[in-house]
Amino acid sequence: MSEQQTKTASTAITPTRAQDFPEWYQQVVRAAELAENSDVRGCMVIKPWGYGIWENMQRGLDAMFKQTGHKNAYFPLFIPLSYLEKEAAHVEGFAKECAVVTHHRLEIGADGKMRVAPSAELAEPLVVRPTSETIIGATYAKWVQSWRDLPILINQWANVVRWEMRPRVFLRTAEFLWQEGHTAHETEAEARAETMQMLRVYETFAREFLAVPVISGEKTESERFPGAVQTLCIEAMVQDRKAIQAGTSHFLGQNFSRASGIQFLSRDNKQEFAWTTSWGVSTRLIGTVIMAHADDDGMIVPPRIAPTHVVILPVTPKPDTRDAVLAAAENLRQQLSLVKFHNESLQVELDKRDLGGGVKNWEWIKKGVPVRIELGPRDLEKNSVALSRRDKGREKEFLPANQAVERIAEILQSIQDNLFARALALREQHTRDIDSTGEFYKFFTPLNKDKPELHGGFARAHWCGSAECEAKIKDDLKVTIRCIPFSEKDAPNENGACICGCGQPSTRRVIFAKSY
Ligand SMILES: [Zn+2]
Repeated sequence: MSEQQTKTASTAITPTRAQDFPEWYQQVVRAAELAENSDVRGCMVIKPWGYGIWENMQRGLDAMFKQTGHKNAYFPLFIPLSYLEKEAAHVEGFAKECAVVTHHRLEIGADGKMRVAPSAELAEPLVVRPTSETIIGATYAKWVQSWRDLPILINQWANVVRWEMRPRVFLRTAEFLWQEGHTAHETEAEARAETMQMLRVYETFAREFLAVPVISGEKTESERFPGAVQTLCIEAMVQDRKAIQAGTSHFLGQNFSRASGIQFLSRDNKQEFAWTTSWGVSTRLIGTVIMAHADDDGMIVPPRIAPTHVVILPVTPKPDTRDAVLAAAENLRQQLSLVKFHNESLQVELDKRDLGGGVKNWEWIKKGVPVRIELGPRDLEKNSVALSRRDKGREKEFLPANQAVERIAEILQSIQDNLFARALALREQHTRDIDSTGEFYKFFTPLNKDKPELHGGFARAHWCGSAECEAKIKDDLKVTIRCIPFSEKDAPNENGACICGCGQPSTRRVIFAKSY
């Protein structure tokens, strides 16, 4: 897009969010150079800017996992089919999306083409891990003999594969990156406390790093992780008012320890099964951040996960001032790099590429770098710079260069806080208590089917607890119970009647929404 065009174009991304949210999302991913679809259907190439965001998410989370006593380890990519079969609900839940390795060799066939060697069939097929409870459980069974071997508190950073028929980059891909924590405990109470602790870690991480407010709660039985006794989750609202499940923490009871044989001699000298948990977040968080914060000009990266916090854009229209501007820009880069933001050095990039100033500026707007600083010959004379915050549209603030350095950490925190406040305001604006079945159906039905304009949101409504009522709502409206919130402020305890219209009473509201 040329400078002239950008002056007249209303937005850098077309369509806009209001015109076509799903297409807008794809265009932001492309324009911000976050990722692209690969030749392998459903598998994405995560580009440096997107991967840089993921690395920062990893670092933030990893530190929190270690603070809560966990260590990292690594387990195999392949899971023997017989392991997966040990837990009936688990295998049933994942069966439809498993990639399976059946052979271990290729050969040249009679037609001269490479083929899978029929003689190289594996005795037992290997499933490419969709999640690792079973293989990790088999390992823990060997590690645990006595109550003294517990707890085991381990996390794994890995990739997993769940075959996707309708992939969407970052949100739903056949292969994705994630972390999976797997812990084993001596008592039920300890395992339940761990499950809750890790959900709170995710909640804090979403709020403080991603600037995404989330509702914490418990999943209903039908939305539970296959094989879990209890699934806890954090749910975010994104800008088309749908929900995204951003992280889950599962209390697995003794289901997986029975299946894998994680047994120990207790303090009373009895053989007992361990109590286990698992918890995970994935590259889906990048999709969540895009949908929560990006605008019609592209991505907006919250400063705490930004690969680059500040980009300096030297404006060098004339050769005779070029060297002086570049020298001042380099000096500014060095000064800014000494600043700490949340105890880490600021990442500052000086974009010296020989491109038009407008082109470069727009590239960085679309990538969503939190702060852009332009510096040209006239600024040099006045010893000032032009600073633009990505969260403040196209505004520029002119300030002395030394002030930019002094204030940068505070400006970044202000961006971080503003993004959170905006996301929270959007959620509050589109969250409603609904008590009538008619109103509920209206809330979740687009006014015009051909033009699916933004509608709906979070409905806080009563539910009697029956799976039939839940299924009816899902069939009719594609609306699900996102969670039964923990906090009274997210859903007050009060008496009411089931929103489904079954006539049964309910003692508390739950969060209903359409979701990704
Ligand atoms: Zn009901």
